[in-house]
Amino acid sequence: MLNQKVYLDFAATTPVDDRVMKAMLPYFREQFGNPSSIHSFGQQAEAAVEDARDTVAEGLNSRASEIVFTACGSESDNLAIRGAAIAARELRGANHILISPVEHHAISHTAEQLKHHYGFNLEYIPVDKFGMVNPNDVAMRIQPGTAVVSVIYANNEVGTINSISEIGKICRQRNIPFHSDAVQVTACLAMDMEALHVDMLSIGAHKFYGPKGVGALYLRDRTPFLPSQTGGGQESGLRAGTHNVPFIVGLAAAFKIAQEEREKRITHLLPLRNYLIEETLEMISDARLTGHPIERLPNHASFVFKDVDGNNLLMLLDVEGFACSSGSACRTGDPQPSNVLTAMGISSEWALGSLRITLGTQTTFKDLESFLRVLPKAVERCRDQTAR
Ligand SMILES: *Cc1c(COP(=O)(O)O)cnc(C)c1O
Repeated sequence: MLNQKVYLDFAATTPVDDRVMKAMLPYFREQFGNPSSIHSFGQQAEAAVEDARDTVAEGLNSRASEIVFTACGSESDNLAIRGAAIAARELRGANHILISPVEHHAISHTAEQLKHHYGFNLEYIPVDKFGMVNPNDVAMRIQPGTAVVSVIYANNEVGTINSISEIGKICRQRNIPFHSDAVQVTACLAMDMEALHVDMLSIGAHKFYGPKGVGALYLRDRTPFLPSQTGGGQESGLRAGTHNVPFIVGLAAAFKIAQEEREKRITHLLPLRNYLIEETLEMISDARLTGHPIERLPNHASFVFKDVDGNNLLMLLDVEGFACSSGSACRTGDPQPSNVLTAMGISSEWALGSLRITLGTQTTFKDLESFLRVLPKAVERCRDQTAR
């Protein structure tokens, strides 16, 4: 019998939940109206979008007026950083952007562009060996001239969860807008906008069993903000463009399921994750866990193996029927250690051998048992090849 493929890359994307699919379908054909139209077709579509907004707002412990639908997590990140930075400069001459060195590229490349093309000063907050930001380091670097602070909630490469609430408090005390990228968090953890003290927070549906191509930005009322995409007055003028009604409905349905099944998901995932981490570290020599051992996503295991070519390992695993990731979008033929691992102080002889295994609602112990039968041999084969 041929090996069944096992998907272990849920941090890259997740399949759409059947219930989400079912909720979306009517909005492609029967209820296809444009929410901006006055007639009954438009009204129906508008009601669907506003229902979705209420669902997300309620789940985030926020107001409906604070939810902006976007086309993906990356767009939410872009919109947040640009919108807050440029408005802060116009309003109070603020010119300083503070981010962590372990942000997703949707944040770091946006901040770099604001530096190189818009004249902002960009400063990076240090992280510890687990990729975690110490809130005191934010307190030490934040200035009256800080336009925006952004710290990732849970890192996509190494799974470390940051103390967002602590950092948020510091920013709130200084009255500086604070953004957090929560794209990896939504599938498994609760998010309360009051408890977290954030002014902006990004989510993307395809990381929590919703469709690709839709996201949302929580934007606290009265945060000074300049929209990026101008046009019609959709999303209270904050994000122009005809609403993608079926996808917005899908995002809300997936969000609701994530909330309702959060406990169940964590109970399912934690033992699997712990088993995978313990077995891997025990069976493979010169292997290290990356990211925080405790403050990490319940579905996330990430490692570095010394003297291994990570891309090579991924290909060997794929041939054996296991879909994993190196954790970063690193291209073959250009072996650059990930900047996240480098920021954590991991040397390149280790960092080039990174492996990320992320679990989902469908993952079973059996999947991991068969994976663990293959992994040690695959690592050894990569080491032989490297040695040659
Ligand atoms: C996937 C991801 C994004 C980008 O989201 P898209 O919806 O794919 O654009 C941003 N930040 C983090 C942490 C992610 O994991």
